[in-house]
Amino acid sequence: MKERGLLIVLSGPSGVGKGTVRQAIFSQEDTKFEYSISVTTRKPREGERNGVDYFFKSREEFEHMIENKKLLEWAEYVGNYYGTPVDYVEQTLSEGKDVFLEIEVQGALQVREAFPEGLFIFLAPPSLSELQNRIITRGTESEELIRNRMAAAKEEIEMMDAYDYVVENDDVELACERIKAIVLAEHLRRDRVAPRYKKMLGVE
Ligand code: 5GP
Repeated sequence: MKERGLLIVLSGPSGVGKGTVRQAIFSQEDTKFEYSISVTTRKPREGERNGVDYFFKSREEFEHMIENKKLLEWAEYVGNYYGTPVDYVEQTLSEGKDVFLEIEVQGALQVREAFPEGLFIFLAPPSLSELQNRIITRGTESEELIRNRMAAAKEEIEMMDAYDYVVENDDVELACERIKAIVLAEHLRRDRVAPRYKKMLGVE
């Protein structure tokens, strides 16, 4: 039997650049992950293609998919449904390929429940470390602005708790490199590698 692939979940706060990082990863030739195309009820944007960017569905069709348990997770985000087709994920993982999801945070929490063995990567805004600098060099910005930023940062940091890794999106290429490094390391974890050797040597 083939070793199952990894389920990689990239998520993070709205506006952090998840889509941009995902597109950059999949434009690189050496990327070996399989992108799971989501289902959505939002209208296609210019240039988007059905079955490439998303599977575009009506609300009725989407609700039907929920009822028939066709979605690994789903969420309503600014008035539209978004969800991950479960059959594709299961099938691809069982072929030994890594599946990559780029989803918002409510969905990522649901995947964590269903697939605790997944690899959960939080894409963090560079504003978090900028904030640190600003706090150190106080005086350049108003107390109120800093307070508001701190409140937003606190929420973001709390969101991180559900993830295994944090990648700062200060630079798209760097963020892609960090994600690939995490996936590589994950494949080399002892608990993934050792069973293969043990099986080979009959010491299970
Ligand atoms: P957009 O409409 O800009 O393509 O995506 C809006 C948000 O939906 C983004 O944060 C994106 O990560 C998220 N998203 C895309 N596909 C899915 C999905 O299948 N499930 C969930 N929960 N969120 C998704």
